[in-house]
Amino acid sequence: MKIPNAFELLKNYFVEQPKAITGLKTIQIYLYREVLDYTVLRTEEDREINTIVTPAMIGLGEVKTRVAFLGSKQKAVESRQLERLLRTSAEDAGYKIEECYLKDHLCLECPRCGLFGGTNASSSKKTKSNIKHRIAYSTAFSLDSVDDLREAITFNGISDQSQTTGQTLGERVAVKPGTFFPSIVTLTGVTWLEVVLVLKTLLSSHKYGAESRIGGDIRNHVVGIAAGWEEVMTPLEFTLEMQAADEMNEGYVERIIQRYAEGAGNPEKIRVLNSEELSQVLETARKQPLDREFLTAAFDHIKQMRKEQESK
Ligand SMILES: [Zn+2]
Repeated sequence: MKIPNAFELLKNYFVEQPKAITGLKTIQIYLYREVLDYTVLRTEEDREINTIVTPAMIGLGEVKTRVAFLGSKQKAVESRQLERLLRTSAEDAGYKIEECYLKDHLCLECPRCGLFGGTNASSSKKTKSNIKHRIAYSTAFSLDSVDDLREAITFNGISDQSQTTGQTLGERVAVKPGTFFPSIVTLTGVTWLEVVLVLKTLLSSHKYGAESRIGGDIRNHVVGIAAGWEEVMTPLEFTLEMQAADEMNEGYVERIIQRYAEGAGNPEKIRVLNSEELSQVLETARKQPLDREFLTAAFDHIKQMRKEQESK
């Protein structure tokens, strides 16, 4: 498939064909995850929300207790969303695909498995059934302190058996709407088609957290894209920099990433999109139809990667 014009900006950072062993070509997607309803960000039953005391960095920020939005929680939602996106568009386009369910029945043939990696436990297939991930997540830290963001909410529990609202009044500690998490998703050795799939996934994922039937609405705003031979910023740096901002004017995120790029190991290889370029890339990704041609190309890439992997 021909690469769309807007994606030419990043062409030096795409691979033609995904490989099991990746090089350094890295694309970072900078996000603002905006909480739009009470969201329960916790790891275990009946526990408090996840918090973390973050340090100040040299000349930046202060010691503060923040809400931690764990990478594993972001990844679980987005991996599932990508699988559903692929399944629905395949049905829509009349393109036949294998069933692929987390976690016990991964097909290891689809772009979801190709990007997020996986192991096929039910190994009627060959034992060498695993794929290394090429998408990476890390903890995102809330902009504000946990004291400003947490709230205990009470709700009517729903009995699963009768589907009626029973007497079980539940109390959950949640983060309030209006909470922001600067966050970064990092791709390594990906095709332009995979970037389209990831952007569509990020823009269409809305339900997060442990109690998503009573809230958990989050909107992901893509506020920056940087490509290079390394990761330019980490999410903690991103949060501290965003907090230090007096106001968020146009090009602010781009300027911060550029500043970090100066300290990179391979600065001449880094390409940060300006706001106009970013909008073009986003618009192109949004408008890209997941039709038969696109799906065939994206699935064939993974089949080819598996073939090469198994021949070794
Ligand atoms: Zn799969």
